[in-house]
Amino acid sequence: MRSKIVLALLFLCVAAAGAFFALRAPARPNVVLVIIDTLRADKLGAYGNPSPASQELDRLAAEGVVLEQVVAQASWTRSSVAAMLTGLYPRRLPVIKEQWDPLPSGVESLAEVLKRNGYFTIGLTANPQLNVDFKFEQGFDRYVESSVTFSWMKDREGKEKAGHGHAVRSADDILGQSLSLLTENRARPVYLQLLLMDVHAHHRITVERVDPDLRGFPDSEYLQAVRNATLPLADFIPKAKKILGENTIFVVTSDHGEGLKDHPAVENSAKHGNLLYRSHLHVPLIVLGPTELVGKPAKLAGLVELIDLFPTVTDLAGVRSPSGIDGASVAQYLRSSSKIAVGSSAVSETRWRKGVNKIAVTDGESLLVENRDGWPGTAPEELYGFAAPQNGAADSTLGSNPQVASRLREELVRFEKGGRF
Ligand SMILES: [Zn+2]
Repeated sequence: MRSKIVLALLFLCVAAAGAFFALRAPARPNVVLVIIDTLRADKLGAYGNPSPASQELDRLAAEGVVLEQVVAQASWTRSSVAAMLTGLYPRRLPVIKEQWDPLPSGVESLAEVLKRNGYFTIGLTANPQLNVDFKFEQGFDRYVESSVTFSWMKDREGKEKAGHGHAVRSADDILGQSLSLLTENRARPVYLQLLLMDVHAHHRITVERVDPDLRGFPDSEYLQAVRNATLPLADFIPKAKKILGENTIFVVTSDHGEGLKDHPAVENSAKHGNLLYRSHLHVPLIVLGPTELVGKPAKLAGLVELIDLFPTVTDLAGVRSPSGIDGASVAQYLRSSSKIAVGSSAVSETRWRKGVNKIAVTDGESLLVENRDGWPGTAPEELYGFAAPQNGAADSTLGSNPQVASRLREELVRFEKGGRF
């Protein structure tokens, strides 16, 4: 009888302690990841662009953390996004070939990890590169794929897939549907992942459709596309916060940049996928959220790779990321507003289509590119200042900086042997 009373008291104590800790334990934050496809960092005001194209998003970025030097692991969508969402280099996944490397099922993605930790997961993509065909719906409770089919997307028998010719959904459309889905799904916490295609479609914008205040700036059609994505996004963020609450982290980034007119001496350099210059690799990364989670408003220097996004987001959310990944969390630098120092180098590569084979490494100061495919206008090996003009072989400073080239070459050798940075 006495022991029963002791047991009952013990049970009450444990229950009370459990209730106490349940009340005290902070609720996991909602996470909203927005990938603006093909968005160059240097075309945003938050990264020094003088145009007003992104001024509404820039105002929000001034209240958050801007990571200044973020490098994509690939210059085309699926390879880069797969790396970003898993913390693994594309070759380790592997997601290397445009036809048909899917997101592997044996690797845990950000959505899968968050779902496993109690999140309700919602994904929308305007780019078919992230469609169910490529297994990017893994880990999502709701997944809205693109109805567009690019002309190269033949099925495995070589037959062209149906549906070609649908219009790419606009940011307005995707963000509007996201708000409805957030309203429908009151489960907490929420992970929302979006991929917007407006900037990717910049070549469809004619000079007449450029707003008068953007017309005097270089690449004004591209800047108009940046406005088409960032203006509705800046409108969406406070609305989403109203639905989800203050305990919400917004991460805005891109999968790769765009060559535009920066490399006229190099063949087929205006778009992305084929080359690995800064224009193709330097992407924005802006983190907004409660100061106690993401740190004070700041611009943080220091090299970051897109593979670092996954462990950083899980870290900010208080969730463990899988062991053995290549990326490293930079959350501590956000919280302390200090220069980021997680790795010595960033590596990017592309072998997406036949005849393309390039690998690049940067330490944040210099960029070494190995063009292993004999691409017209390039040298087999090129060295540049990271922010310097990179117009192919003619601009390369390889001859005058042999020690820098040698050091970066060693980093690449180490990478290709499977070493980490
Ligand atoms: Zn892309």
